[in-house]
Amino acid sequence: MHELSMAQGIINAVIETAENNNATEVTEIGIEIGRLAMINPEQLKFMLGVLVENTIVEDAVIKIEEIPVEIECPDCGFKGEADLDDKDHYAPVVECPKCENKRISILNGKDCIVKNIVIEKPDD
Ligand SMILES: [Zn+2]
Repeated sequence: MHELSMAQGIINAVIETAENNNATEVTEIGIEIGRLAMINPEQLKFMLGVLVENTIVEDAVIKIEEIPVEIECPDCGFKGEADLDDKDHYAPVVECPKCENKRISILNGKDCIVKNIVIEKPDD
């Protein structure tokens, strides 16, 4: 499943970053998901919850933010947030909100990234 490999990648990256910073615990993870990243946020959150068990990320608060899709329309010149039929997370239809053109350039909203993590360090 797509969300599982995505979740695994996120957790691996977070643990690596945490270890590189001598963290004892990760307390918060901020994740941004583009609406076109083909990721179901609920599923991702569930997978992350399973994968963090028995790691230093176990007690982290996971914050997932959905990022709107930004497009540029070659027909009418519209640039900005797209209309998105996202009832189905896996096959959203993107079109220009002005002229309903579907052959648009997508500028933003395709990625899933770890925006920030908050770690605890040992007292020194
Ligand atoms: Zn247009």
